[in-house]
Amino acid sequence: MPNVFFKKIDYETLLKNPEEVLKGLEASGIADDFKKDQFTGLKIHFGEKGNKSYINPNFLLPLAKFLKKRQTRPFLFETNTLYHGQRMNTISHINLAYNHGFGKLDLPIIIGDGIKGDDYLEVKIGKKHFSSCYLAYSLKDINYLLVLSHLTGHMLTGFGAAVKNLGMGCAARRGKLAQHCQVTPFINDKRCVACGLCKAICPAMAIEKGEAACFIVKDKCIGCAQCISVCPTGALDVVWSQDCNLLGEKMAEYAYALTKKVKCSYVNFCLYITRECDCLNKEEKGFIKDIGMLFSRDPVAIDKASLDLVLRQENKDMFLEAHPKIEYLHHLQYASDIGLGSLDYKLIEI
Ligand code: SF4
Ligand code: SF4
Repeated sequence: MPNVFFKKIDYETLLKNPEEVLKGLEASGIADDFKKDQFTGLKIHFGEKGNKSYINPNFLLPLAKFLKKRQTRPFLFETNTLYHGQRMNTISHINLAYNHGFGKLDLPIIIGDGIKGDDYLEVKIGKKHFSSCYLAYSLKDINYLLVLSHLTGHMLTGFGAAVKNLGMGCAARRGKLAQHCQVTPFINDKRCVACGLCKAICPAMAIEKGEAACFIVKDKCIGCAQCISVCPTGALDVVWSQDCNLLGEKMAEYAYALTKKVKCSYVNFCLYITRECDCLNKEEKGFIKDIGMLFSRDPVAIDKASLDLVLRQENKDMFLEAHPKIEYLHHLQYASDIGLGSLDYKLIEI
């Protein structure tokens, strides 16, 4: 049964004592994994522009110093988004990371799926939904990822933490598209100005120019998602998945693909827990009292333990109340079924 280590702490106390992150990594034994000269990524979400609840970079200052001292070649790792926003390409994404204070960590920032999110690494898994997954290309050279996740509610999966950070957060845009919908984007002809940029980049020649707008020939589209990032007007969009269980299963398969490729450990920050995730482009109030931090080598166990701690503290199912139509445990159950991790765990308070 995997261990999950738990440090009870609130946001303000952690802000004053950020060395508690490092202490938790040491107490859980995870700090022993950090090795000299291996490429060590800190998988992080910088928060969309306007968001305030993302993991505070001040929490990570002692950890960043420690990793540098150990000469682990540390860096911050993230991927570009599928949706339109500041994190849709590497340049505005890194600018946003700096605006959100991550520059103070003095670590390089790698956006692993290339400038426009098109660079992918194919990993074969042979599972129910995917025979291959398309992860961020840089993962091919990364030795170790410490996956730092902020526990939040989520409008499509009910909640998000480590499994979501792995599965969706480390996929290239093509992989995100495959998880979210039936692969073909569409062009909103009210927003399209027929500039032809998408047509020029499409590797499958699946985009045609109409009189006033371009359109996609569905039979030709291979779902690579390259067109989405070049559109200057936001006319290219996807049909976001309405089947939350299906999305959750696909996300779990992507998380599984990543763990086959890169060794990972996990820290969940159950602090400033919001109804929606950090992709929301506005400030949100927390809706659950701070719980603390969890540390584990098992992504399913750490997420299940985080949820159980919320349930125990609040005495009611806050995530179900926030998103009543979503069976939020479904993706964890499926993740466990395919061998990503364990729903059972041993909780060790530190
Ligand atoms: S997703 Fe790829 S193949 Fe499909 S229209 Fe866009 S660029 Fe072309
Ligand atoms: S890039 Fe956007 S605006 Fe230009 S033709 Fe394609 S969909 Fe229309």
